Amino acid sequence: MSDYTMTIDGKAESAKATFGVINPATEEVFAQPPECTRAQLDSAMDSAATAYKAWRKDEARRRQALLDCSEAIKARMAELAKLLTQEQGKPIDKAMEEIFGAAIWFQYTASLQIPVEVIQDNEQARIEIRRRPLGVVGAITPWNFPLMLGVWKIAPALLAGNTVVIKPSPFTPLTTLALGEILRSVLPPGVLNVVSGGNELGSWITSHPAVRKISFTGSVATGKKVAASAAPDLKRVTLELGGNDAAIVLGDVDVKATAQKLFWGAFSNTGQICSAIKRVYVPESIYGAVVNELAEIARGVKVGNGLEAGMQLGPLNNKPQFDRVSELVEDARKTGARIVTGGKRLGVKGYFYEPTIVADISDGTRLVDEEQFGPALPIIAYRNVEDAVERANATHYGLSGSVWSADREKAAEVAVQLDCGTAWVNQHLAIAPNLPFGGAKWSGIGVENGPWGLLGFTEIQVVNVSKA
Ligand code: NAD
Repeated sequence: MSDYTMTIDGKAESAKATFGVINPATEEVFAQPPECTRAQLDSAMDSAATAYKAWRKDEARRRQALLDCSEAIKARMAELAKLLTQEQGKPIDKAMEEIFGAAIWFQYTASLQIPVEVIQDNEQARIEIRRRPLGVVGAITPWNFPLMLGVWKIAPALLAGNTVVIKPSPFTPLTTLALGEILRSVLPPGVLNVVSGGNELGSWITSHPAVRKISFTGSVATGKKVAASAAPDLKRVTLELGGNDAAIVLGDVDVKATAQKLFWGAFSNTGQICSAIKRVYVPESIYGAVVNELAEIARGVKVGNGLEAGMQLGPLNNKPQFDRVSELVEDARKTGARIVTGGKRLGVKGYFYEPTIVADISDGTRLVDEEQFGPALPIIAYRNVEDAVERANATHYGLSGSVWSADREKAAEVAVQLDCGTAWVNQHLAIAPNLPFGGAKWSGIGVENGPWGLLGFTEIQVVNVSKA
């Protein structure tokens, strides 16, 4: 038995088998959520399919329900934030931001309209373009922003008239399970089902006959499996996948001020953000100055258990990710790169890794070419901007990127040349509920957020009324 329960058909559901959730700051198992069985997933799907029939009919009710979800989260923020820090590792104030953000996302989404476009209304015909819901949505989320990324799916899916079965990552299932519990008194039974388990449960969802749309956030490798699994049944997919964002610094920047922004664009959430800066291209003229400044900042950052006051960064979320970051830094070291600061484990307990700045490194090294998803940033020297853009684009990834300059218009001209979903100028990670977010190339298919994200949970229906 476990203290954490799934939400199936509006009710608490436990399972005979459970799995351990590790606090990454202590490496101790502190919770045992249920391992969903195939039969339990089937009942969650049945319940979602049944609830869909009534839920899709009343838009005003759905809109109000989203506002109620927002209030319900706000009422439990402190408790949810503590749980999030325990399972994910992020500092408690950042956990509060994520929970508050989830509430705000519900609130904002409630304000969106589901458009009905009348494109002809004359003596021949009245023709409307309507947006219909799809049915049951299977939502699958990763471990870096478990609650926020869940709500990015739940809120628009529900507003559009769909019902949802969501599965969080086995590394961070608890806040999503808690959300399900909190929303049992807000949403009708079956509208939101929350199930927990491992990767196999994910594949049961993506191949389940009841599901008409899969909204997935995670790695490229899994995203491809999800797309393949959706194909035989032609399920709709939105895929939000990995990134290897480049920041291109131009030679005219204020080095000190820019380094601060670059640092937090790369190291926020301990580097575990899909659209974090993952490589920085700097002109030779200011290379040394930028590297030194970034290293100086890295040395001063407070890293520790997120439940302790004043921490700026927590641990990596899990052992495989800790091992991966260590391996990529070791590989860079072996191939002749310079570890300017960091480059090793911090302390003896917990998946803490020193904020790491790596210089004298170039494309062709794993730390530059692959997504590190952790606190180790390679800084690469370039001679001319065209070359930097070409190298930034020479990847299968295409999530986002940024260009930095004292001349923002000049920077914007460079930014539009980046092959990615979001091109920032003099900032990175500026993500908001009203902006579409998604990736080019292998970084994804479709977008989330804003009216564009909402429409991803609908399909077009033409209603063509003859007046002849
Ligand atoms: P992951 O792909 O390993 O897992 C993501 C989710 O998929 C988990 O819930 C997992 O249990 C599930 N899963 C695993 N195998 C599955 C399968 N065969 N079928 C269905 N579901 C399956 O990713 P992760 O390690 O949890 O997250 C890190 C990755 O997510 C990084 O690459 C990061 O860039 C990416 N990410 C992308 C975005 C975005 O919006 N583009 C946001 C956050 C994270």
